[in-house]
Amino acid sequence: MTANIIDAKELKNDPVFGQVSFDGHEQIVFCNDEDTGLKAIIGIHNTVLGPALGGTRMWNYNSEWDALNDVLRLSRGMTFKSAITGLNLGGGKAVIIGDAKTQKKDALMRRFGEFVHSLSGRYITAEDVGMETRDMDIVREVTPHVTGISESLGGAGNPSPITAYGVFMGMKAAAKYQFGSENLDGKKVLVQGVGHVGETLVKHITEEGGKVIINDINEARLEELSKKYGANVVLGNDIYGLDVDIYAPCALGATINDKTIGQIKAKVIAGAANNQLANEIKHGRLLKEKGIAYAPDFLINAGGIINVYAELEGYGKDEIIRKTENIYNTTLDIFNLSAKEDITTHRAALNIAQSRIDARKKEQNK
Ligand code: NAD
Repeated sequence: MTANIIDAKELKNDPVFGQVSFDGHEQIVFCNDEDTGLKAIIGIHNTVLGPALGGTRMWNYNSEWDALNDVLRLSRGMTFKSAITGLNLGGGKAVIIGDAKTQKKDALMRRFGEFVHSLSGRYITAEDVGMETRDMDIVREVTPHVTGISESLGGAGNPSPITAYGVFMGMKAAAKYQFGSENLDGKKVLVQGVGHVGETLVKHITEEGGKVIINDINEARLEELSKKYGANVVLGNDIYGLDVDIYAPCALGATINDKTIGQIKAKVIAGAANNQLANEIKHGRLLKEKGIAYAPDFLINAGGIINVYAELEGYGKDEIIRKTENIYNTTLDIFNLSAKEDITTHRAALNIAQSRIDARKKEQNK
């Protein structure tokens, strides 16, 4: 989510508890298996609201420091994402160190699943970068503490359309706040990254009469979607100064940074990418000063976790849609709180999430 990107020089000497991103984690589990070559770290940030749920990322990290920081940052993010969405879940995440294309083997995933199982449900895993549904199915062979498994095994299926719908809801709320109407008819929207989430988002916006401009590094994809939805295409990286009403980052994180922030002409930012603000405090504040309505990423991209939560709670599509549509109300509340208290929307969202955790903790300690 939106924790600060940690600069290598900010790393403290203390390896774990002293890390900038440690931020009160409850438990960190280092998993090592000589036979399969598994090296993984599971971060459990907070379990006040429920078991810590978050995906497993497999990535060829430059160093173990990078892997540790990534898992800490991501698991903290999951705590706030679930809390703000009203789910009874805590925050956790796992990273496996290695190249998913060459080093991911069934035996390694099974061994990883055994480590997850050893935590007795305190941590529940799911898919993230470098993982596929099939990998979760393998993990399921050794532990029930996994979501995002195949529909044939009881899973909730592809989360991307739900994520896109939630982003659409957040975008409409931001439009309501900024332009006085939630209707996107006639609004110019730049969608950066038209992958799984981006495409469905383009579809929703187009259906409402919005004028979509799409950008991606995959030119074949641009051509295909431009034909399919009548969207305009913009190539290259020089896109931030485009004269649009809304910017939807749906590719990479940290696109709102020192270099781009001065160029942005959009009056609303609402997209699916995680960690959109390179520095959540500094860039959140600058957006506020520029009068740009920023819909916090971890709030509006929560459709995916709502989808996997359905697997745990056993609710169906109607309830998934209802919970996802509620992102509209929560986003509006965040904008109003941000204006009332003169804080960034990011801060406002974190405060609401934290107060939900604090209230539950108080109840538990009675
Ligand atoms: P995806 O991989 O399907 O799509 C990403 C798209 O971005 C691809 O088409 C890729 O070519 C494009 N891209 C990559 N680098 C780019 C660049 N520099 N400029 C422009 N385009 C670029 O991913 P997705 O599942 O659609 O997810 C999109 C974003 O939303 C990711 O940041 C992801 O972490 C986040 N997210 C996704 C979900 C979900 O349910 N899929 C949930 C929460 C958050």
